[in-house]
Amino acid sequence: MANCNIDFGPMKKRVNVTEPYLPPLEEFIPYLKQIWDSKVLTNCGAFHNQLEEALCEFLGVKHLSLFTNGTIALVTALQSLRVTGEVITTPYSFVATSHSLLWNGIKPVFVDIDPDTLNLDPEKIEAAITPQTTAILPVHCYGHPCDVDAIQSIADNYNLKVIYDAAHAFGVSDEGGSLLRHGDLSVLSFHATKVFNTFEGGAIICPDASTKHRIDQLKNFGFVDETTVDAPGINGKMAEINAAMGLVQLKTFREIIARRKAIDTTYRELLSGVPGIRCLQGAHGKEGNYAYFPILVGADYQLSRDGLYHRLKEVDIHPRRYFYPLISDFPMYRGLPSARHDNLPMAVRAAEQILCLPIYPALELECVKEVAKIIAHP
Ligand SMILES: *Cc1c(COP(=O)(O)O)cnc(C)c1O
Repeated sequence: MANCNIDFGPMKKRVNVTEPYLPPLEEFIPYLKQIWDSKVLTNCGAFHNQLEEALCEFLGVKHLSLFTNGTIALVTALQSLRVTGEVITTPYSFVATSHSLLWNGIKPVFVDIDPDTLNLDPEKIEAAITPQTTAILPVHCYGHPCDVDAIQSIADNYNLKVIYDAAHAFGVSDEGGSLLRHGDLSVLSFHATKVFNTFEGGAIICPDASTKHRIDQLKNFGFVDETTVDAPGINGKMAEINAAMGLVQLKTFREIIARRKAIDTTYRELLSGVPGIRCLQGAHGKEGNYAYFPILVGADYQLSRDGLYHRLKEVDIHPRRYFYPLISDFPMYRGLPSARHDNLPMAVRAAEQILCLPIYPALELECVKEVAKIIAHP
């Protein structure tokens, strides 16, 4: 039976924007047993190393270092490349993107987004480069690929590093292979709300073994050997229980993406003719992950964006305004010259219009249809 609240009055169930996928508990128990038997709980144990290998193979990348979460991975990625001074980034993201810069004592410089992809607009980057600029930190927002070629060519011209916040981009590929191969480093999040989760977790995709080796040291307090510490590293290690969750999740990932794709297709069909509603572009024939279903609520829609948001909440459907407010509007950023709204018109407009609709593997298509029906006839 569908879980949709609308059809089943007394049985109604809250519909959130997302819901973590949990494998059957029986599949997880043997892993727990092994942890209990071995008494290896963390510090790069068997599951940690197995998951690193399994993810490299699954994602089609050569080297990867697991982390306790995506934010610590971002902080460590910047530290490992010795990024300093100013970094060009997007205001249209989850706040952890810019926070990772502040944790490294770096000044964020916000650049506006492309109105179609909602990713950093490469055409606006050059004007923001100063002698202090050392890197670019773009986000593959909603798992939609950035213009990686344009970004790389600017980085090459100005000798800048590129670190991708790929927290939304697990399993996404372009014509040449995994999206995660681009830039100097890419960072994933395996938080419970993401398409692939380890309760909490993250990873850095590294281009070579020596970079991974350095990052492995930095996530372990900077220990180089038993008695030598050569940098102020952090504790970023993923624990065994989290790695075990990853190994179990990986087995069903393809099916999960197929479920998400069906939901995406249904929304697109039902919302395509609704005046004032624009669905963000899909995966463009490449392999997407259907992590989010963002719509833009235009001025020609019957309600304001917040009007629609509250209308859905009335019937216990809980979309989210990802990303509103802009990062650049939070108190620790809004004093920066680049945070001014006249510098970021497209990001400001997107933040005012965006609404991410419920999408997760257990969401019944009947519910999806109900959500679309309410949007069409609020
Ligand atoms: C989730 C997320 C992060 C942070 O990852 P955590 O694993 O929650 O620390 C960073 N950037 C973006 C864009 C995210 O969505």
